[in-house]
Amino acid sequence: MRSHLLNDTTAEHYRRSVTEGVERVAAKLATTARPFTGITVDALAPAIERIDLDRPLHDTTAALDELEDVYLRDAIYFHHPRYLAHLNCPVVIPAVLGEAVLSAVNSSLDTWDQSAGGTLIERKLIDWTAARIGLGDAADGVFTSGGTQSNLQALLLAREEAKTRDLATLRVLTSEVSHFSVQKSAKLLGLGPDAVVSIPVDHDKRMQTVALARELARCAEDGQVPMAVVATAGSTDFGSIDPLPEIAELCAQYGVWMHVDAAYGCGLLASLKHRDRIDGIEHADSVTVDYHKSFFQPVSSSAVLVRDAATLRHATYHAEYLNPRRMVTERIPNQVDKSLQTTRRFDALKLWMTLRVMGADGIGRLFDEVCDLAQGGWQLLAADPRFDVVVEPSLSTLVFRYVPAAVTDPASIDRANLYARKALFASGDAVVAGTKVAGRHYLKFTLLNPETTTADITAVLDLIAGHAEQYLGESLERAS
Ligand SMILES: *Cc1c(COP(=O)(O)O)cnc(C)c1O
Repeated sequence: MRSHLLNDTTAEHYRRSVTEGVERVAAKLATTARPFTGITVDALAPAIERIDLDRPLHDTTAALDELEDVYLRDAIYFHHPRYLAHLNCPVVIPAVLGEAVLSAVNSSLDTWDQSAGGTLIERKLIDWTAARIGLGDAADGVFTSGGTQSNLQALLLAREEAKTRDLATLRVLTSEVSHFSVQKSAKLLGLGPDAVVSIPVDHDKRMQTVALARELARCAEDGQVPMAVVATAGSTDFGSIDPLPEIAELCAQYGVWMHVDAAYGCGLLASLKHRDRIDGIEHADSVTVDYHKSFFQPVSSSAVLVRDAATLRHATYHAEYLNPRRMVTERIPNQVDKSLQTTRRFDALKLWMTLRVMGADGIGRLFDEVCDLAQGGWQLLAADPRFDVVVEPSLSTLVFRYVPAAVTDPASIDRANLYARKALFASGDAVVAGTKVAGRHYLKFTLLNPETTTADITAVLDLIAGHAEQYLGESLERAS
């Protein structure tokens, strides 16, 4: 069994095994006709249930054959142009190469003595990102597992910087369409159940700054302490970007920590055409970026950035065995001093390889393409009497619903849209998402694939209309 350890004597086994896996995936990607096979849980579960984990196959090829049956054949393929559902991107090859290298070398980025160059590479990418944002010379940050963790860490720092230790009085102000990880973070941070104050959005799903100003004033009157305003630069549901310059002004006026959740919109940092859409982000005290959304990186790749490196001390604890305090004076860079995690993947290597091979412009161009595609999709939807579309996209999301002229009952329209999404998923022809707007069911395209065309959008809209019409026709028959 020692031959399965990756070391100096097993290089050939390593090369053959990984190549065999790569060949399978490459063949799969080349022949995937649909983003999904439409398999159901009930159909797939027995195949996985049957496998006895205590009876290994002792053969790589056999294990890959089995994997074909339990995973590869029926996986959801984000690289397919008709996968239009969630914030998942097709990935760029240099990043996948980075992934292969980082897991084989297996550096852990908690300390210098487990990573060496890995630590310096991560630090350089943090500095690069902070400079793109415009956070200034004192900025710092750290890679995280995702936007959820980045938001949690940012809010931890904000809580520690707040003017009171009385957790019950602390408030976090954020728009009604911000990410639910803000709520989760508030709970984890021990804030009260009413800590998150929801600020209404305007017609374009952007935070209403008049309402924000009103709430900040009300907090002051009621003896509550706003510890952070969380602005969203690219809401998960609509891609809407809060008015960052106005929010920054209010935060400065009230002395409140400004966090910008740019998990989705961070791709604009590399954009050649639309960078101005996140102007104002440079005023943030902290920023969340998810490279695994709009930088075309494999999961996980995310970071939290801060304007003032000193605030990261709130996440610092010293352990004699790992990062003793003396190492700080010895100037040994231990990233664990800045992170909520201990053992931590060298995810930064994926972005590093991407920037070294393609450059930031290469990424920005891809993201610009999907933003432009969304604009085209919006025009199609706005001109199509079968559909109602919610907002003109600021990023690459379209939220809409099928509204047949002949049907006026909103509940029937809800059911028809829900049915269309399910039927489309079951067919595997395309995968779309859904959400609720003002209590009604809508459908959603999150466009992150530059290979998707307006012809794909047209085709998927026709499929949706077909399924919805079929449902309404059948429900009419049932009623009569
Ligand atoms: C996706 C998303 C998150 C959560 O990020 P994960 O990487 O999924 O943890 C947070 N905020 C926004 C706006 C997002 O779109």
